[in-house]
Amino acid sequence: MALLAWAMIAAPSLPAFAQTPLPKPRPGNDVPTPKPVPKRSGPATLPATPPPLPLPRPRELEKTEGATDAGAPKTPALDDTALAACLADFEARGGEAITEHAAPPTASEKTSEATTGDCAIPGPVTFARVKLPDGPVVTLDSAVTVRCTLALELASWIRDDLAPLIKRHGTVLARVTGVGGHACRPRNGQAGAQISEHASGNAFDLLGLKLADGRAIELSQADATTLEIREEVRKSACARFFTVLGPGADSSHANHVHLDLRQRRGGFRMCQWDVK
Ligand SMILES: [Zn+2]
Repeated sequence: MALLAWAMIAAPSLPAFAQTPLPKPRPGNDVPTPKPVPKRSGPATLPATPPPLPLPRPRELEKTEGATDAGAPKTPALDDTALAACLADFEARGGEAITEHAAPPTASEKTSEATTGDCAIPGPVTFARVKLPDGPVVTLDSAVTVRCTLALELASWIRDDLAPLIKRHGTVLARVTGVGGHACRPRNGQAGAQISEHASGNAFDLLGLKLADGRAIELSQADATTLEIREEVRKSACARFFTVLGPGADSSHANHVHLDLRQRRGGFRMCQWDVK
């Protein structure tokens, strides 16, 4: 049923036959019965199966994400043992958890939490530093709070992908700028839109990178001198995260890059970021 509901919502303009499962053809059923049939130039036999549904394109999926969630695997909540294991992995990847509890939710966060019931983070981790294996520390320009599974992926991305990538360009990654994690709000901040992955601590935003040689790389800014680095950053992000939205995805991601671990049916990933 979930698949059917998804197909109906994802492709509302499809003819009815594509939305309703056809009965299996019985043997001999492929011979047309002697009732009036429209003229056709092809073979006289009926097609055994309806034409395949067109695969939804990423932007269509984005518009109907609520529908795709119906059958998508839910990110499991972390029990205490899983959280402890995740935290240990996070620290092994150089992540430094801040133990003090994050700032209490604002009044508006509390309100939307009450109305949506969807703003709690399962297994939250607050952090602002990731230690690299050879000593230096990469800092976030402010602490973020995200669920541990995302914190682990972010620490791994910074330590295992970004830092070596910057090193290959002859300098050291010092800072990740313009960061944002948990926020209890609808997607793209639009009232009535589906709740954002940020609300459950499953998303992370960033603007750029600062390098030890003083360079600042704005990820969304067209710039020939940083094109190669930004292209490599995009590639590594799309290999690691389930959703990557940046300039070119839509107007609300024109000036920053959004990463999340939203699980979708069939492991579908979204990588929409035009590096120029
Ligand atoms: Zn975001």
